[in-house]
Parts: sequence; C-alpha cells; structure tokens
Amino acid sequence: MNETGYQIDLLKAMNQNLNARDRMYRMICEMTGGAFLYIDASKNEIMTIGDLASFFDFEIRTMRELERIYEVVDEPYLMPLRELIHLDKSHKEKDCLECRTRKGDRWLQFQACASYDAQRHVSCKVIGIFDVTRLKLQSEELNYYSFYDVSTGLYNRNYFIRLLGDMVKKAKSEQEIVSVMMIDIDDFHKVNDGLGLVYGDELIKQFGSFLKELSSENVIACHLNSDIYCLGIYAPKGASSVDAIHQTITDRVSRPFVLGNAQCVTISVTIGVAQFPEAAKSALDLINCAEIVTLKGKSIGRDSFTYFDKPILKEFKLGLEMESKLKEALQMHGFELYYQPQYYCGNKKLRGMEALIRFRDRKEAEISPSIFIPIAEKNGDIIPIGNWVMEEAIRQYGVWQTLFGVHFILSINISASQLTQNDFVEKLFGLLKQYQVNPYFLELEMTESILIEDFDLICDKMRRLQEKGVRISLDDFGTGFSSLSYLKKLPINTLKIDKTFIDTVLTDSATRIITESIIGMVKSLGFESVAEGVEQEQQYKYLHAIGCDVIQGFLFGKPMSVAEVEKLIRN
Ligand code: C2E
Ligand code: CA
Ligand code: CA
Repeated sequence: MNETGYQIDLLKAMNQNLNARDRMYRMICEMTGGAFLYIDASKNEIMTIGDLASFFDFEIRTMRELERIYEVVDEPYLMPLRELIHLDKSHKEKDCLECRTRKGDRWLQFQACASYDAQRHVSCKVIGIFDVTRLKLQSEELNYYSFYDVSTGLYNRNYFIRLLGDMVKKAKSEQEIVSVMMIDIDDFHKVNDGLGLVYGDELIKQFGSFLKELSSENVIACHLNSDIYCLGIYAPKGASSVDAIHQTITDRVSRPFVLGNAQCVTISVTIGVAQFPEAAKSALDLINCAEIVTLKGKSIGRDSFTYFDKPILKEFKLGLEMESKLKEALQMHGFELYYQPQYYCGNKKLRGMEALIRFRDRKEAEISPSIFIPIAEKNGDIIPIGNWVMEEAIRQYGVWQTLFGVHFILSINISASQLTQNDFVEKLFGLLKQYQVNPYFLELEMTESILIEDFDLICDKMRRLQEKGVRISLDDFGTGFSSLSYLKKLPINTLKIDKTFIDTVLTDSATRIITESIIGMVKSLGFESVAEGVEQEQQYKYLHAIGCDVIQGFLFGKPMSVAEVEKLIRN
C-alpha cells in the first residue's frame, strides 16, 4: 500500500470512529432528555447536541445567539442564569439552576460545568438544559400537602403547631397574648350516619372554608382532624378578639349549611379556649388545654363555649388518675360488693338487698361509686365493671340461697351502656342459670338516663327481661326529666324516689306535695314505691302514712359487707 492509500484508510477509520462516537454521544444525550451546549471559549464557538428544538424555537451557534436564552426565562431568574452561563464564572463542580419560563408553563433546569487552561481560565464550558416541569409540580404538590389539609385547604396539624409555636415565641418577647380556640362540630356522626360520608366531608369542607375567611395576619386556622378545627389568634382584640370570632361563628352556625344535594344541615359547635401565658407556655400544651376544655364542654352538653382554667386541668388529671386506678382494679380484682337492706314499710320485714360496689385504691382510701362510676361510664370501663358486679352479686346470692335458703330480692344497678350491649339479656340469663338463681328474685335498677338511648329498643329489652320474671326498677326518680306522664308507657315494676326528696320532705311543703303525688301515681299504675335515703324515724313515719311501700336508708341499715349481711340473715 502506498503512502496516500494508507492516509486515506487512516482517515476513513478515524471518520468511522468519529461517527461512532458522535452516535454514542447523541444516544446518551437522548436518554437524558436534555440538550447540551458546548462552548469553546478560545474560539467563541458553540456546538449543540440533543433536542434543542424542544426547548427553544431558535438555534444557538454563536455567543450572540446564546443571548436569546435570556428572553425565555422569567425575570427573577435572569441574573442567576447569566452568572451561571458566563464564561468567567468558574465551577468547582457541576452548578445547577432551575428557572421558570417567561410564559410560566415550564420549568427549565440549567446545569453548567467547565474545564480550565493552565492559567485557570475557562477553556470550555458545557451547559445542559433539562425540562423539570413535572418534578417541580410534584414537589410543589408535596410541599402543599406538608403545610395544608387536603379536605379543607386550611393549615394541617403539623404546620399549624409550627406557626403557633412562632406566635408563642413572638408573644413571649412582645408580652402579648395568644389564644387557641378549638372548635368541635357537635353530633357530627349524625350527619355522617344520616346523610353519608360524602356529605359529611362536604360539611367539613364548607365549615373549613368559613374558618379560612376568618384567617388574617393575626389569625391562623387549621383542620386538626375529623370534625375538629383550631384557631390561633395573636394579640386578640377588636375584630380578632375571641369574643368577636365566637360571635361570627355563632352567627354562621345559626344559618344552615347547604350541601351538594341541596340538603340543609344546621349544626352547633362546642368551643374551648386556652390562652398563652395563663394556660400554658408552649403551642402543644395550649392545644392540649384547649382540647381539655372542649372535651369538658362536650361532656356537659353541646353548643358550649368554655375558657380553660386551672381547676379544669386538675379535674382532668384526677379523671385520668382515676381511669388508671380503675383499670388496675379490674385486673387485680380490687372491687367489692356491699349490700343495703330494703324493708317493707308496713311490717318492717326484709324486702331485698341492693348491691353497691365498693372500691379502695392502693392506699386503702375508699373511692365513692358516685365519683368513679360516671368516669367508667364515659370511658367504657363500666362494661367490664358492670359484668363483674352482675356475676358477683348473682354468685353471692346463689351461695346465700344454698347456705340460708334466702328468698329476698336482689337489686343490681345497671348503667345505660350495659343495657344497650347486644348480648346483655342473654348474658344475664346465662348467669342466673349458672348460679341457679330464679329470675323472680332479681331486680335491675336503672336511671331515667337509660331512656335517652333508643326508647323503643330499651323498652323492648325491659319487656323481654320482665317476661322471664326479672323486675325493673326506675332509680333516682325525680332527678331526671321525671315526667309522670311517660311513666305509664314504661315497663317497670318499682320506682325509687330519690333521696333529695326524702331530705326535705319534712321541711318543705312543695316537696311533700310532689312526693305524695308520685306515690299516688305509682299506686294507681300498680308499681311498688321505694323511698331512698331515709335517715330519720320521722321521715319513715311520714312515708308510711302516705302509702310508700318500701324504705331504704341508714335508719334501717347501711350498706354492709358479706359477713355483716350473713350476720343479719342468721338473726
Ligand atoms: P344509688 O343507686 O342511688 O345508691 C344509693 C346510694 O345512696 C348509695 O351510695 C347508698 O350508700 C346511699 N344511701 C343509702 N341510704 C342512705 C342514707 O340513708 N343516707 C345517705 N346519705 N346515703 C344513703 P353509694 O353506694 O355511694 O352509691 C352511689 C351511686 O353509685 C349509686 O346510687 C349508684 O348510682 C352508683 N352505683 C353503686 N354501685 C353501682 C353498681 O354496681 N353499678 C352501677 N352502675 N352503679 C352503681
Ligand atoms: Ca340504685
Ligand atoms: Ca338511687
């Protein structure tokens, strides 16, 4: 081969090699989805690779044409982009800048890296251009979710706590007040149950939008969860005072919310307020205190507005303490039953015994059932406690039957939530069978509060119990709604007149009139009347005279232990 032939072959080979490299670069470039500018600083030349046309509708071959890039990006990104691209700018590593386009429809990412000559001057530079619109939108969306609640557009819990923390910090240095208002929609479950979740959500959204309108520089609003919202108010005064905001909320809820299906819903709300610095010194504690008062408001009823104060916190802490004591007692068998005798007024013979629960804590201090039963009713512990009482009383009665052949009436107190348990009736009959106690000897005492539940369902259960011989007694009569007219609709056998009547029956003529009419009514309906809390002979004599059937009270016998009851039976 001659010299020229060799040269030609060599050039061909080099050319092929170059083509292959070119292809390789193009393919790599396509994979990145970007376009690249290669700027040769010494020649002021620009080479491009990749799909530049998908970014710009002009070509870039000279430094002059490069200037047109700045027409594409939005104003705030101009200077930083110029800096990034400028040939004097040296890059330690790859530099990067994200710019919104002037049209606002895209986000472009510019990357730059350079190589340097011996004098540390930029000899060439590569600018990579990428479309990051989708990533940018996704991260904006993620950002949004980390600050806002999706269903209402209000701040979410975490971000609210952060903002409230800032408010508290500022208030500390400026000696200002921060109020936290918790707003809880009353009976929200009724909307959910009655209209369905979709309309429940719609209500949450609408109420949220309303609260958003209350937001201002000083007022932040958040959707805490479900049907609970929270406002943080910095330096509450004037239109942003707690009272003014409360009034605005009251005005709004007095008008119905119109939901998607043109369904109108009227709501009420329970509001609890806690203020920095009196109630607590941190955002979380303030929210906690506001929650405690809201819960307190809920426990009293709906539609309330309560300020946090120290006694409420004390009461709340005591409640918590009591709850844990009850849980422990349930596990450690820490309860006991006492029994209080009831006597017929006429012959003073024993009619029955009322089982009354007793509870001593670790320090052996006796805690009254009037304190712990309401707590257990609220937190649901009344179910296991009530089950224990039922079994223990029936078991004990079975033992007394065997030992002494007794046949007095055993009265057991039953709470509303026990009776509403689906298996209540079956469970009770199971126990009676197990301990071989005849249902005729059993009486269940229930207060009127039981009737707040589904009236027909409760009456139906009472009838099923009565059909098998169990007596039903209406306890604490006179303390509830006590309408005499509904009495005849109730399947009861006995009515217990509350101690508060007996206390004043000798001294107050109005009480006497009511007591006498209750006893008259009870007689005409064929029920038995029991007077509770009789402490004086004079009270007994009077009650006997007006026709009361049965007497229960310290006068004839206090609640007593099993040993004491057995002594009484033996005598
Ligand atoms: P209650 O069912 O009305 O029980 C009568 C309460 O009055 C008892 O208080 C009894 O000791 C008290 N008492 C009876 N006679 C007199 C008297 O002459 N003078 C005075 N000052 N008091 C008298 P106790 O045992 O403290 O029970 C309080 C309440 O706790 C009960 O009121 C009842 O509502 C509830 N309770 C007690 N045991 C149980 C139980 O096993 N289950 C349920 N659900 N509640 C119970
Ligand atoms: Ca009772
Ligand atoms: Ca009672």
